[in-house]
Amino acid sequence: MPDYTVINPATEQPVTTVTLTTAAETDAAIERAAAAQVSWRAVAPGDRAALLRRFAAEVDAHVAELAELEVAGSGHPIGQATWEAQHVRDVLLYYAAAPERLTGRQIPVAGGLNVTFHEPLGVVGLIVPWNFPMPIFAWGMAPALAAGNTVVAKPAEVTPLTARRIGELALAAGIPPGVLTVLPGKGSVVGQRLVDHPLVRKIVFTGSTEVGREIMAGCARQVKRVTLELGGKSANIVFADADLERAAATAPYAVFDNAGQDCCARSRILVQRSVFDRFMELLEPAVAGVRVGDPALPETEMGPLISAAHRARVASYVPDGAPVAFRGTAPGGPGFWFPPTVLAPAGADSPAFTDEVFGPVVTVTPFEDEADAVTIANDTPYGLSGSIWTENVGRAIRVARGVETGNLSVNSHSSVRYWTPFGGFKQSGLGRELGPDALDSFTEVKNVFIAS
Ligand code: NDP
Repeated sequence: MPDYTVINPATEQPVTTVTLTTAAETDAAIERAAAAQVSWRAVAPGDRAALLRRFAAEVDAHVAELAELEVAGSGHPIGQATWEAQHVRDVLLYYAAAPERLTGRQIPVAGGLNVTFHEPLGVVGLIVPWNFPMPIFAWGMAPALAAGNTVVAKPAEVTPLTARRIGELALAAGIPPGVLTVLPGKGSVVGQRLVDHPLVRKIVFTGSTEVGREIMAGCARQVKRVTLELGGKSANIVFADADLERAAATAPYAVFDNAGQDCCARSRILVQRSVFDRFMELLEPAVAGVRVGDPALPETEMGPLISAAHRARVASYVPDGAPVAFRGTAPGGPGFWFPPTVLAPAGADSPAFTDEVFGPVVTVTPFEDEADAVTIANDTPYGLSGSIWTENVGRAIRVARGVETGNLSVNSHSSVRYWTPFGGFKQSGLGRELGPDALDSFTEVKNVFIAS
């Protein structure tokens, strides 16, 4: 069996070695998950809820351990990694309330009545990317389990450690074997088997648009349900009437959090031309103030990129002669470091403006008026998130309705709350995760007529 050595992105030192799952082992795990689903779906709703609450408590008791694993294996700053582990707990608790609320309808009809049931799908295959190994795992896993499905999850090959540990915590909490299985391995092996195996009834995929497209095509062959959460190229639109100080002070964190490896990164800042120069004056010290360094230190705000190959890809967006307005700092020595970088002015002729860089690179572009801002914001195949800065509530509503994107914030940069829906427009994805309706995508409605 092949092994994979997890590398600490901040030190380039090996962390541990993980055995990669083969295709035959994946098939066996899927078959065990299908067998386990028969009894998991039969667990009384209150008991399933109690088990999920115990799972959440087990995660809560191991937040520090999970956070340290994410620091070592993914380079996430410890403050962020701690939040991520707590987020897994919170998502489990939120969906622990769902089994007892998964009710159908009764519909009077001539000669009797119809009743509807929300039936679980069976085995759900969860394919997780490397940028947020814990939260994205939880978003698919928790509602799928709550609805009575079993889950076979594949973490990204490079970041398997926290998902693997959370799988162990599920067992320790009393979740029966086979209900949640975590299979470290390659997308081309484990991920592909999840897509191709007929016992897997739904795929939840987060990652690149390219792979998402292939997964959708693979699922189509079996009319397999699929949720896709893909790339983004989100706009941060700053109008002249905005609180410019606050917009500029927060803009770096909207794109450089997680070293820019965030599908919601506001990587295109659009600024109304009349305040462009003032905004750039305010942005420069804000970028210089981003604390980049050792992710194990509590004050660190930005860590390294995930790998040398990814750093080379990010660097290709800042070639010699690129319009670098200013940059932040980054440590020298070992580690896949890249400094926060601001390119301005940038337009549609610049790949950093059009492509998802997935690194700490942001472009700043002037616009003329409301209509121009919406046109530029929409000039992308993506539509995942975005921000609008203005003190004019009417404008905020008009622009929010005009921008083709799934998650917007006004005078804020937050994108994700587990109790509100999350997902993309256009090529940023298909379906919605999180929020109160998430169980709809992990169940099918069964309609039964009962003659009277
Ligand atoms: P991928 O889309 O390649 O990987 C995401 C997940 O899919 C990983 O678990 C991967 O496994 C798996 N996978 C890859 N190929 C297949 C396949 N044929 N069948 C089933 N599963 C598969 O993303 P990358 O990690 O390569 O990142 C590339 C770019 O994608 C980034 O630079 C960024 O632009 C974007 N991206 C966007 C994310 C988002 O949150 N929207 C998250 C991650 C990436 P394995 O790890 O083995 O490759």
